[in-house]
Amino acid sequence: MPIIPLNQWIPKLKKPLIVAGPCSAETEEQVLQTAKKLAEIEDVRIFRAGIWKPRTRPNSFEGLGEEALPWLAKVKKETGLLTTCEVANTKHVELALKYGIDILWIGARTTVSPFAVQEIADALKGTGIPVMIKNPINADFALWMGAVERFLNVGIEKIVAIHRGFSSAAPGEYRNPPMWHIPLSLKQRFPDLPMICDPSHITGKRENVPRVCQKAMDLDMDGLIVETHPTPEKAWSDAAQQITPETLASMLKNMEYRTAYSSDRKFEAQLGELRSKIDRLDTEIIETLQLRNKVAEEIAKAKIENNVTAFQLKRMDKVLKDRKAQAEKLGLRPEYIEELYNTVHAESVKIQTSIMVDNKILSKKEKP
Ligand code: PEP
Ligand code: MN
Repeated sequence: MPIIPLNQWIPKLKKPLIVAGPCSAETEEQVLQTAKKLAEIEDVRIFRAGIWKPRTRPNSFEGLGEEALPWLAKVKKETGLLTTCEVANTKHVELALKYGIDILWIGARTTVSPFAVQEIADALKGTGIPVMIKNPINADFALWMGAVERFLNVGIEKIVAIHRGFSSAAPGEYRNPPMWHIPLSLKQRFPDLPMICDPSHITGKRENVPRVCQKAMDLDMDGLIVETHPTPEKAWSDAAQQITPETLASMLKNMEYRTAYSSDRKFEAQLGELRSKIDRLDTEIIETLQLRNKVAEEIAKAKIENNVTAFQLKRMDKVLKDRKAQAEKLGLRPEYIEELYNTVHAESVKIQTSIMVDNKILSKKEKP
């Protein structure tokens, strides 16, 4: 089932696609006021507003539900913006379709549940309505991919993935750390799938929104979904991360938009040279890894002679500690080298254990 490119169903789209609007629809006035200001920003094409809010704790504002849907219909009529809201069950789907919402989105707490996603997909079969799918709250690439497949399977071809970061128990800079390699892997798996970034839920802090937007653009993402409120600090949900339509406008103006390719000959030649350098270095790295594996084979043989295990915790700790220290001296991130050497060392242990197992089988066979 092919994914239909964004510019075939969003009229007059200039890259990037900008979706904006409040975390939640609160009052008719707030919705209309926000939408009218957003409609003045040329790049904003879709108006978002939460109608049903999946809140972590009960007794917080859980959205107004059906009452707020006519306001979105009004936004569409008065501003021409397309509208979108989150749906988490078939009742939501039924109501959103009844009020003519243009695009539905699947929230991060729904993508984690294959049952819920399948139910929504079944309810949308034959509607052809576009669906935006947020990544699951946990860093599970397969769940995100599975949700995309479930909608493709029922014939939904207008699909957008939303990267909103992944929850983490560790306190840190982000509300939901972005783990950029996960959306990039999804893009690799579905090259035609448009990917937009939700800097609001990634950062959780309005002052960090522009930085994450720029990073998403530098990674060649297809757009942004940004929570926008006329008086963010007074918002009924996610007050710390929303920005005003005015801030959004100036942020979009100040952003650097790059393209994935350039036709400038001089640049292409320079890039070609630099890439040859990288290719040569990669060849050296791979040849060195080959030599390293050969040494691991010799170690295995020596260990067999002396009845020593393939895995030795103290040795692994020392390898990691020494490599990290050396990396730091050379200005490399120690975490990067740690991750790399976990893999390199695991390969060495794998080589040793398989030689040990083969040796055991052989020595058994040799016995009559
Ligand atoms: C939202 O977009 O308001 C929302 C609830 O997002 P998420 O599903 O990413 O938490
Ligand atoms: Mn929100």
